[in-house]
Amino acid sequence: MNLVHQTPINTTPPDLVRFEGVRKSYDGIHFVVDDLNLSVRKGEFLTMLGPSGSGKTTTLMMLGGFERPTLGHILLDGRPVERLPPEKRNIGFVFQNYALFPHMTVAENIAFPLQCRKITGAAAETKVKAALERVQLGAFGNRKPVQLSGGQQQRVALARALVFEPSLVLMDEPLGALDKQLREHMQVEIKHLQQSLGITMVYVTHDQSEALTMSDRIAVFHDGRIQQLDGPRRLYDCPSNRFVAGFIGESNLVDGLIDGFEGGEAIVRAPDGAVLRAPAVEGAKAGMKVTVLIRPERMAVHNADGPERQNIVRGLIREIFFLGDHLRLSIAALGLDELLVRIPAAQGEGLVANAEVELAFAISDARILTA
Ligand code: ADP
Ligand code: MG
Repeated sequence: MNLVHQTPINTTPPDLVRFEGVRKSYDGIHFVVDDLNLSVRKGEFLTMLGPSGSGKTTTLMMLGGFERPTLGHILLDGRPVERLPPEKRNIGFVFQNYALFPHMTVAENIAFPLQCRKITGAAAETKVKAALERVQLGAFGNRKPVQLSGGQQQRVALARALVFEPSLVLMDEPLGALDKQLREHMQVEIKHLQQSLGITMVYVTHDQSEALTMSDRIAVFHDGRIQQLDGPRRLYDCPSNRFVAGFIGESNLVDGLIDGFEGGEAIVRAPDGAVLRAPAVEGAKAGMKVTVLIRPERMAVHNADGPERQNIVRGLIREIFFLGDHLRLSIAALGLDELLVRIPAAQGEGLVANAEVELAFAISDARILTA
């Protein structure tokens, strides 16, 4: 025991939610959530991101109290809540399909969670009014849900989740039904609401750009397990395995064999015989099969003014797509039929399909993944 050191002052906010060894099986055979250990900090926007079937909704339902963990514990503010019913958890919930009550008016829908908590009369009216104003639906209280657009219904669901001033709000793919423009608008609106109200948010989506836009931290789910938990920037720049690299952002994943090492760099052979250099990483050994991640925007068409030490590879341009400000090149190179390269439109002059091209990228922009 070391008594000399004082306990450091803890500057990270305390945890509001803790999953401890949580597992869930619906059929008694297969765990759809497996050994989940996760803390959500007070005031943070945490997103669970993953493909369909990866266990996101199940995890959210267990936190909300609609499903029970088969094993493990869920702590809310330090207290185990596995046996607490949903209405005793002080958690706001926005479900995947809004789940508005069709026979009730907008105001009645929003008042519903208050009734469940025995808040009625003038006190309830004031809260409903404030909730409607907060989502810019002040004039819509008397309408029925069918008389609203998808985006407005979404706002009602949001108001209903916030009306009892919960400290924690859970949202399950809340924007899935909206068109792209409205979805992007609502992403910003929800983020602003979360920040201005100081709520802790646990948000579920399968949309990686939505997760990158909104989150403080993202837990990437796959097969019921968290693959990586990190901030958006780190997830994009330093994915911990091939799954995360492929799921977040656009990526070229090149199969490689490590030939050896030289001054902190690994020398990697691609399937087409090309040799790449990449920063060495822990666990990488000579003779090992690895994946090399190269992001499309990190590559450029090689020109003589580039730095002296960089990776240069040859490829064949298959297709060129014009996207206004940039070009997407689909190139056969490094053993991939479709290596994607994204360059500013101005740098694409003279490029044509079926021509050979030399691509250049920094050694530090080739990232070795061992898993
Ligand atoms: P996600 O939200 O990431 O799409 P889910 O948590 O809904 O994932 O589902 C995870 C797995 O659990 C899937 O294989 C799904 O079929 C299964 N599952 C979800 N809900 C139930 C249920 N109520 N009964 C049986 N299986 C379920
Ligand atoms: Mg789901």
